[in-house]
Amino acid sequence: MATQRIIDFLAQNRPEGPCLVVDLDVIQRNYETFTRALPDSRIFYAVKANPAPEVLSLLADLGSNFDTASVPEIEMAMAAGASAERISFGNTIKKERDIARAYALGVRLFAVDCVEEVEKIARVAPASRVFCRILTDGFGAEWPLSRKFGCAPTMALDVLQHAHHLGLDAYGVSFHVGSQQCNLDAWNTALGEAAMIFRTLAEKGITLRMVNMGGGFPTRYLRDVPKTEAYGAAIVDALHDHFGNHMPETIIEPGRGMVGDAGVIKAEVVLISRKHEDDPVRWVYLDIGKFGGLAETMDEAIRYPITTIHDGGAVAPCVLAGPTCDSADVMYEKKPYDLPIALTIGDEVLIEATGAYTTTYASVAFNGFSPLAAYII
Ligand SMILES: *Cc1c(COP(=O)(O)O)cnc(C)c1O
Repeated sequence: MATQRIIDFLAQNRPEGPCLVVDLDVIQRNYETFTRALPDSRIFYAVKANPAPEVLSLLADLGSNFDTASVPEIEMAMAAGASAERISFGNTIKKERDIARAYALGVRLFAVDCVEEVEKIARVAPASRVFCRILTDGFGAEWPLSRKFGCAPTMALDVLQHAHHLGLDAYGVSFHVGSQQCNLDAWNTALGEAAMIFRTLAEKGITLRMVNMGGGFPTRYLRDVPKTEAYGAAIVDALHDHFGNHMPETIIEPGRGMVGDAGVIKAEVVLISRKHEDDPVRWVYLDIGKFGGLAETMDEAIRYPITTIHDGGAVAPCVLAGPTCDSADVMYEKKPYDLPIALTIGDEVLIEATGAYTTTYASVAFNGFSPLAAYII
C-alpha cells in the first residue's frame, strides 16, 4: 500500500496527471521474502511485470536472475547489470531471428512447448538448455493464463526427447499456475506432472535437472492473500512429495508478487454524474482507465483498492470508468465499486497495489493521452 515514502513524494512533487510511484524498498523486501520462503530456488524476476531500469538494477544488484520475453527485455536486463547466464528467454513463441540474437548475446536458456520451437532453437542456438512448458488449468487464479502456453504433459515427453535427439540439453520442465493464484495447492498438481515427466524420461536415459515453477504469487488487492511464506512451505512440501530424494534444481519467476504492492497510482476524479435523475449508481470518471495502464481491470479481473481523502465516511456504489472516448474504457460496472459519497470532481485518489502490469499496459497516445508516467523512488 502507499508507503510513507510514496505519500511524501507525492506531497512534495505534486506531479501533474496520473502517475505511478514505485517504492524500491518494498521490492527489496519482497525479494528478500522470496529468498527466505524458497531458499533453494533461484529467482528469475519476470521483467514484463515492471521493466523500469531502476527496478531491474535493484534486482540485478540483489542477485536476481531474469525471465524475459523478447530481445529488448534481454537487453534491458543486461543493461541493468545481469550477465547472459542470468537470463532465461521464457517466451514459448519466438521468431527464429530473435532466438539467434539472444544466443549471440550469450543467452543459453530457452522455453519451448512444441517440437516446432525446439527445431528453431536447435538450428540457431545449438549449445542451449531447453525446458518444456506444460499446461495447467489455472484454477484458482484471478488472471489465468491457461490455454495459450504449454503442452500436455504426455506431449512434453516427445518435445524434450526431440530436443535431446537434436543435441540440445533437455534441462527440465516449466509451468505457470496462473497469475494472482490464491490457491496454495496449485503448484502441487503441476509438480506431480513434472515428476512424472522426470521419471519417464529417466527410463529413456534422459536426465532432466530443473523445474521452473513460474510466477503466480499474488499481490494483496481488496482481499487478503496467503503470505509468501505459506506459498514457500506448500511448494517445498509438494516438491518433497513428488521428488523425494531426487530433488531437482528449481526456479521461480515472480512478477506481480515482486512488484505489485510496491506501486501506487495517483489519479484524479474528472467527472461524477448519473445516467438518469433517480439513478442509484454514480458514474465516476478518472483520468486513468483501461488504456492508461489499468488493463487488468478487463472482465473486472483485478479489483484495485482505491483510497480517497474521504475514507471512513459513508459510501455508495459507483461505476468506475476511464477518460477516453472508447466505451470499453469502463473498469468496474458489473460489480460496482463503493466510493465515498463525499467524493467530488477534482479529488485525487490513490489506486493501490499497481506496481505490476500497469506502465507497460498503457497505450501510447490513445485520444492524445500520454502513456502512464512513472517515478521510481
Ligand atoms: C508473466 C510471467 C511470469 C510472471 O507471472 P506473475 O503471475 O506476475 O508472477 C512468470 N513466468 C512467465 C513465463 C510469465 O510469462
